[in-house]
Amino acid sequence: MGLLTEGSPLSWEETKKLASHVREHGISQFINLYKRLRDRQGDVLKWGDEVEYIIVKFFDDKKEAKVSLRAQEILSVLNERELADPNGVKSLWRPEYGAYMIEGTPGKPYGGLLAHFNIVEANMKHRREEASQLLKPDEVIMSLTSFPRLGSENFTDPPTKPTPNEGATRSLFFPDEAIFPGHPRFKTLSRNIRQRRGEKVAINIPIYKDKNTKIPVDDSYKYSKAALPDHVYMDAMGFGMGCCCLQLTFQACNISEARTLYDQLTPLCPIMLAFSAASPLHRGFVTDVDCRWNIISSSVDCRTEEERGLKPLKENKFVIKKSRYDSIDSYLSEQGEKYNNIPLLYNEEDYKKLRENGIDHLLAQHIAHLFIRDTVSLFSEKVNQNDEEDSDHFENIQSTNWQTMRFKPPPPNSTIGWRVEFRPCEVQLTDFENAAIVCFVVLLTRVILSYQLNFLIPISEVDENMQKAQKRNAAREEKFWFRKDITTHISPPEANECCKKGTMNCEPKDCDMFGLMTINEIINGKEGEFPGLIPLINSYLSGMDVDADTHCTIQQYLKFIQRRASGEILTTASWIRNFVTKHPEYKQDSKVTERINYDLLKTIKDIQQGNKSCPELLGYSTMSKTKENIPNALFKDC
Ligand code: ADP
Ligand code: MG
Ligand code: MG
Repeated sequence: MGLLTEGSPLSWEETKKLASHVREHGISQFINLYKRLRDRQGDVLKWGDEVEYIIVKFFDDKKEAKVSLRAQEILSVLNERELADPNGVKSLWRPEYGAYMIEGTPGKPYGGLLAHFNIVEANMKHRREEASQLLKPDEVIMSLTSFPRLGSENFTDPPTKPTPNEGATRSLFFPDEAIFPGHPRFKTLSRNIRQRRGEKVAINIPIYKDKNTKIPVDDSYKYSKAALPDHVYMDAMGFGMGCCCLQLTFQACNISEARTLYDQLTPLCPIMLAFSAASPLHRGFVTDVDCRWNIISSSVDCRTEEERGLKPLKENKFVIKKSRYDSIDSYLSEQGEKYNNIPLLYNEEDYKKLRENGIDHLLAQHIAHLFIRDTVSLFSEKVNQNDEEDSDHFENIQSTNWQTMRFKPPPPNSTIGWRVEFRPCEVQLTDFENAAIVCFVVLLTRVILSYQLNFLIPISEVDENMQKAQKRNAAREEKFWFRKDITTHISPPEANECCKKGTMNCEPKDCDMFGLMTINEIINGKEGEFPGLIPLINSYLSGMDVDADTHCTIQQYLKFIQRRASGEILTTASWIRNFVTKHPEYKQDSKVTERINYDLLKTIKDIQQGNKSCPELLGYSTMSKTKENIPNALFKDC
């Protein structure tokens, strides 16, 4: 997203009345855009990462750490630099949901040279340094998925109080002041999601039950019927959207390649979620999950009780199975079609309109399905649009369907092509780890396209994997549905879904298509059954000519991925869990006290700055040869 333009948000009542206006024009805008751009060809690989950070402030005298609500101040300086020299800056900075969050991306996307993999980490380092220069001496930016005591007493600086009876969020724990104040979008979304739903959002995450854990976990159940006694209860958009993540966007050479990449990366979403797990602590408690996903999903769940299936349906209403933040519901490529085994909800008229305008079934149902969601943020300046040229109504719905993958059409009047965004990963503590994950995923896309690999499994199994991925220690212990036969393109009915579950009589050869695999087997391979993602990447790279520094860097990244997948080193989530449960002040009661929080964040600060080694998290060799620029001599194709 570019710099957010200022605007005047409409009230929920006004927004609600315009829901069908946004839907109608949004779909027309997509149709016009599609007609203009469907045949666009010849775009080259470009790609880039997005890293989100939390600004933490330490109080060394009290041994406390809080989120610092200074994002707006810091961003205004960073954005001024960008406005002064839009093409010259090395990094771009954007606001995020929290008043304590900032998001950084490279100044320009990377391209198709292998040497680009060697500048990712240096750019991430540069971003960290650039933002750090604007911090006060006791502040630090951290690429930390969840702030452990978010929503606990006194978690902000300056101090704030939640306002359960007024304001946008009405949370018992999360004050409106912790929402980014510099643009109305964030508060408006919070208010409208609550109003559309008809009540506050309700997030219940199972507590990690330790020896002295008390149930009920706290007094929440006295104040809210929605609070479950053996869960950590959270009631605000900020608990989810106030988490940080790591995302990637790739440009494809044309729409068809974008559809292939969208589909092929889908089964990898739960795998990479489990692999990158980094958020076991929420609202001051140790929970029984390792990832943020279900928390964000519930934190923006705008479905009414009827839509959630809790009340009899009124006329023209549907039960909607998922929140607008969740895993995707359908594949987009022809090859994927046969694996679309969950019923897709959409408005028949929207679908028909798309079809009548020459859009094929798979894409039409994808777009129509996005548009089952109402707009939850509308600005008066944007209501009336020219559907031939504008795409704001389309983007309005597209950008508030927060899914594991996003299929991005070219923006109007730009040189940008069809793109795909990979959105499941949790952000890691160090630039090294984030760069390793980014390079690993981008290399996988190259391997998929070059070897024409096929990772497709029924989409219902991807959903099942998403839930498994979030469990405590899933990266080491869980088994995931995965395709073993990635070089053939046999699909249902031959590869009948029933086979792997053994519920029907099938030929054993069909049953060989999918299996249950650990993260280790998927990434490192399983003798006789699955080659492994890293060996595939290595085989792809072995045919390439690459400079020594880039080669060294990529190998460091791949080794790190291998070690983490094998369990030789810990996931961020496991490492955080261990830190808390071994802390002298921890009383086996699942509570993250101020002191534990402070010590944990101080340790993270030392690790991310390279002042403390942490072999159990990073292994022993994390020295890449990353550098800021690509030497002119290196122009080898990726
Ligand atoms: P979002 O839709 O999440 O707001 P952005 O537009 O901010 O995404 O871009 C996300 C990433 O896409 C950034 O890392 C950026 O460098 C990268 N990017 C920019 N232009 C292109 C392009 N033409 N192709 C692929 N990625 C691009
Ligand atoms: Mg973001
Ligand atoms: Mg993004």
